[in-house]
Amino acid sequence: MKAVCWRGAKDVRVENVPDPKILNPRDAIVKITSTAICGSDLHLYDGFIPSMMSGDIMGHEFMGEIVELGSGVKNLSIGDRVVVPFTISCGNCYSCKTAQWSLCDNSNPNAFMAEALYGYSAAGLFGYSHIFGGYAGGQAEYARVPFADVGLYKVPEGLTDDQVLFLTDIFPTGYMAAENCNIKPGDTVAIWGCGPVGQFAIRSAFLLGAERVIAIDRFPDRLKMAKEQAGATEVINYEEVDAGEALKEMTGGRGPDSCIDAVGMEAHGTGPDYLYDQVKQAVRLETDRPTALRQVMVACGKGGTVSIPGVYGGFLDKMPFGAAFNKGLTMKMGQTHVHKYLDPLMRHIQNGDIDPSFVITHRISIDEAPQAYETFKHKKDNCIKVVIKL
Ligand code: NAD
Ligand code: ZN
Repeated sequence: MKAVCWRGAKDVRVENVPDPKILNPRDAIVKITSTAICGSDLHLYDGFIPSMMSGDIMGHEFMGEIVELGSGVKNLSIGDRVVVPFTISCGNCYSCKTAQWSLCDNSNPNAFMAEALYGYSAAGLFGYSHIFGGYAGGQAEYARVPFADVGLYKVPEGLTDDQVLFLTDIFPTGYMAAENCNIKPGDTVAIWGCGPVGQFAIRSAFLLGAERVIAIDRFPDRLKMAKEQAGATEVINYEEVDAGEALKEMTGGRGPDSCIDAVGMEAHGTGPDYLYDQVKQAVRLETDRPTALRQVMVACGKGGTVSIPGVYGGFLDKMPFGAAFNKGLTMKMGQTHVHKYLDPLMRHIQNGDIDPSFVITHRISIDEAPQAYETFKHKKDNCIKVVIKL
């Protein structure tokens, strides 16, 4: 089959690789119909996540049709049309039983690597390095889905791929980011980053009762989408004005009730806070870089919440904890518990509260994927979300 393979930093290639096979009774093989490129894939593309191996298959946002099932999967059938959460969860451990699906204790066979590196381990992820289990990703014609009985989610009749594909990751991610803000009626939420995750955070903040959402980025097309399609009440171009000062002014000096960092470690003008050199096996700390997160913590109003869906890979230094402490901030973060949001967000789609396809700017064939990584990374050609059609 064809697959998008990682061959090193800034080097992904479409290659012919063996088809996946059922390995365990709870596996399924899915023939992929649509798969997307995520901001998280850029961390791999940039070489910031350690333990990618040459030839690894990329991609964690995918859907398609079940073509093969292990003997242990009783609740699904061949031919079912399904979306695949990017987090792999067993459904039986303490974390899964308490709906903390992205912290599954059983789905990462390489947990020891994460523990050695970071002192923690979390769930296995598709297409996301060997620290997260080394599972082949979904930017391919087929994928093996472990724990298919809890992981695969059947798509109701009458919905297109483009309407449901983002249930795999970015819609739940934006939603959980907003939910973590504990929004009260009348609240003002500020959101850094108008990429796909930021766009869904904006929409979700309104679904959860925010009165005002202020979106921050530097790309006019992304700010335009934030305003016109996601519905932000105001936008700030941080290259034109100081975002922190502007927010203060817009909120009568008080600051937003909650702030979302939908940027992560590749904040523009800053680089990653952490770099792992796979060759030298060395961890280097970058201590003085001004990340979006520092600005978020300083800008957030007293008693407010800082919610962080943006991915951070290692150490982060010189955080304004004095400001956070004195303002009594709450901080919430993490990989999304995708499984928990599938039912409620599918209902929002079916009710017509949201059509998630509004973020798609590029639909391409798998052969065009390497070029699309470059386009998406550099935000060229007004690119916001790329979907690969198979
Ligand atoms: P993206 O690269 O398309 O969007 C990031 C946006 O941030 C860009 O529009 C960029 O211009 C903007 N930005 C950069 N520096 C900024 C700054 N200093 N201030 C304000 N805006 C700034 O990526 P995306 O797909 O939207 O993903 C965003 C983040 O969410 C990434 O870090 C990604 O890894 C993460 N993510 C997390 C989860 C999760 O489970 N928590 C899931 C998916 C994605
Ligand atoms: Zn993603």
